[in-house]
Amino acid sequence: MKPYVVAFVRPDRMNAQDLLWLLLPLAAASGWFVARLDSKRQAARSFDLPSAYFRGLNFLLNEQPDKAIEIFVQVLEVNSETVETHLALGNLFRRRGEVERAIRIHQNLIARPTLDREQRTYALLELGQDYFKAGLFDRAENLFLELAEVRAHSEQALRLLLNIYQQEKEWDKAIQASHKLARVAGKRMDDVIAQYYCELAEQAFAKGDFSAARDFLRQALAADGNCVRASIVLGDVHAEEGRYREAIEAWRRVENQDAHYFGEVAHRIAEAYRRLNDEQGLYQFFSAALQRHAAVSLVLTFADIIKQRDGIKSAEKFVVEALRRHPNVHGLHRLLELNVEQAEGPAKTDLMLLKGIIEELRQQHQGYVCQQCGFRGRTLHWLCPSCSRWNSTKPVVEE
Ligand SMILES: [Zn+2]
Repeated sequence: MKPYVVAFVRPDRMNAQDLLWLLLPLAAASGWFVARLDSKRQAARSFDLPSAYFRGLNFLLNEQPDKAIEIFVQVLEVNSETVETHLALGNLFRRRGEVERAIRIHQNLIARPTLDREQRTYALLELGQDYFKAGLFDRAENLFLELAEVRAHSEQALRLLLNIYQQEKEWDKAIQASHKLARVAGKRMDDVIAQYYCELAEQAFAKGDFSAARDFLRQALAADGNCVRASIVLGDVHAEEGRYREAIEAWRRVENQDAHYFGEVAHRIAEAYRRLNDEQGLYQFFSAALQRHAAVSLVLTFADIIKQRDGIKSAEKFVVEALRRHPNVHGLHRLLELNVEQAEGPAKTDLMLLKGIIEELRQQHQGYVCQQCGFRGRTLHWLCPSCSRWNSTKPVVEE
């Protein structure tokens, strides 16, 4: 396939001069075509091609794009060589947010009987993207579904379909489309499919349908055994139903799936042990976990456990030892908290001030960051709001 002009032009950075360059091949092709027309056809023609092109360009430069489009569409009537230029023009309008104009250009293109199959499917892909941008999801979906059957463009069509399903939160359809896309593109999409199942599970969970939620989570884990989110939500469902042992079991899996997220479940696990009145189990679990990980969240959780069990002095001693091994602002903050509790008078005021300063420092060392685009946020997004990737956001490294 000949590369389309669209691929080489960044329409969002285009100005009038760029447009002129873009449209030059159109003028050249038109002139060439005119030269080749026989006298009979030339006599029947209602307008002269090069002058039509210049009139169109003039309208464009005078910011009268509708009139320009009319002219270009007329030029296209007799010359399918200009398809690429029209595609580029349609793409330009869509990117500038002038979706109705883009739709008109692409619809006119598709109506041309002279288009070859490749050009037609390409124009349909573009039209589908116009519909998507215009919020006409049903129309876009129908087009992409049709195009997904065309071998040359099925991968792109399926990716665009996935965009629609994600936007519309139609997770069932997203799962189906992902399986097809994985086949067509020859790539595994198991981790994304697991996220879609997690979305379905959270919907069911929110409605109070715990059994459906658990089923979806099992499917998520079947698709991707390392799906941290499925383990977290499965634990939440069990806990909601009062099954704390099962909840702990689900949350504990996170450690082996991806230890970065262990901090997400540490406080949940501690709370579940407390609900079970299992102080012994709580102490044993966290002291053993601390042998395996030096994560700050574990240190902080264990400091609370020691404080409850052995008193504030023991907790303070534990935090000081942990800080000696791994100095960090979170541990320092907890140490100050413990000190503030025990202090009185002016010493307490000074410690409060210091705690406030450390608190601000601490803000810079917490939250979540997308490994793909660097987006930072305070909450954990499984789908990055900035680059729209799944599974790319991790807790800020706290060790
Ligand atoms: Zn991102």
